[in-house]
Amino acid sequence: MNGFEKGVEFFTNTKADPSIIDKITALKETLKDNTVFLAHHYQRDDIVQFADITGDSLKLAREAAKIKDKKYIVFCGVHFMAESADILTTPDRIVLMPEPMAGCPLAEMADIAEVEYVWRYLKDTVQSKIIPVTYINSTAKIKAFVGRNGGVVCTSGNASKIFDWCFNHGDKVLFLPDRYLGENTARSKGLGDNDLCMITGNKFEPDFSGCANRAKVLLWDGYCSVHRRFKVEDIMKMRTEYPGIKIIVHPECSHPVVRASDESGSTEQIIRVIQESKPGSVWAVGTEAHLIHRIGNLFPDKTVLQLGNRGYQCVTMSQTTPEKLLKVLDALKDGRIMNRIQVDAKTASEAYMALNRMLEITG
Ligand code: SF4
Repeated sequence: MNGFEKGVEFFTNTKADPSIIDKITALKETLKDNTVFLAHHYQRDDIVQFADITGDSLKLAREAAKIKDKKYIVFCGVHFMAESADILTTPDRIVLMPEPMAGCPLAEMADIAEVEYVWRYLKDTVQSKIIPVTYINSTAKIKAFVGRNGGVVCTSGNASKIFDWCFNHGDKVLFLPDRYLGENTARSKGLGDNDLCMITGNKFEPDFSGCANRAKVLLWDGYCSVHRRFKVEDIMKMRTEYPGIKIIVHPECSHPVVRASDESGSTEQIIRVIQESKPGSVWAVGTEAHLIHRIGNLFPDKTVLQLGNRGYQCVTMSQTTPEKLLKVLDALKDGRIMNRIQVDAKTASEAYMALNRMLEITG
């Protein structure tokens, strides 16, 4: 792990054995009438090349919800994304993951038992109305908790709109599980230090009750290990080395990094901003390295650099390999279902409320 914390390592642009690629290509053709392939932007190139649809979490959730004519959805991403696809599709769709153990470390930082404990404490101590919001990077159980408590899912692309909805319907937001997206969104609304209160699991700070009553946004202390790597010093270094460079980062980065950048946005927004920039522009991008590398190839009239000149990849996103994809497809060809992701009916129906509320609010 190169001495990194769990979930992140240096980028290596791994390429699969061509004979495996040929076998997947042939199987994809054989299975094309009843199978669709979805891949997240942070997947390896030798996985993304097979995708019928690529996107960030929001786009993939929306596209999964539209799938009516294919029985099998092969989902190349991390576990919560495949869960969202299962929740949003009709029960006769079957969602498969090449690597079902590929979880998102950020999503796993919000444990449902701890969240329930904190929620009960907040209900007893805080008088005003709290709306729970969870970033889409969360487990189905957390989405279900939010759904049954009148809350809503958000993504990095629509968090601002979701906050507006919350403050029209309540007094405070409990934001799960990404402290940085929560803080960046709150500060973009003009909220300051006194409006924020950090929740470190069920180990409350001595003044937690005062802080929770004072604050407008209660932040769960989770984070993405990849985006947390970027530092303000990386931005200063890039600006010195490349005068005139533009910096764009994902809002899972810390607030000082977002503030020191020229722009911030979801992966889809990052792609669009660079695509629409002038030919010859030079960009440094603070997000997962596979995507940055691919953007550079997509828009050769621009220079696209890794922020800090160091690429970081998400360990669990990289666990989906062509070898594992081939195994799932081989089984499917033989009529066997391998690595199905299925959310139990009660969790799915409560999580659906939270996901669907997001889709209704954001249109
Ligand atoms: S890049 Fe970060 S948020 Fe995305 S799957 Fe990996 S750990 Fe989770």
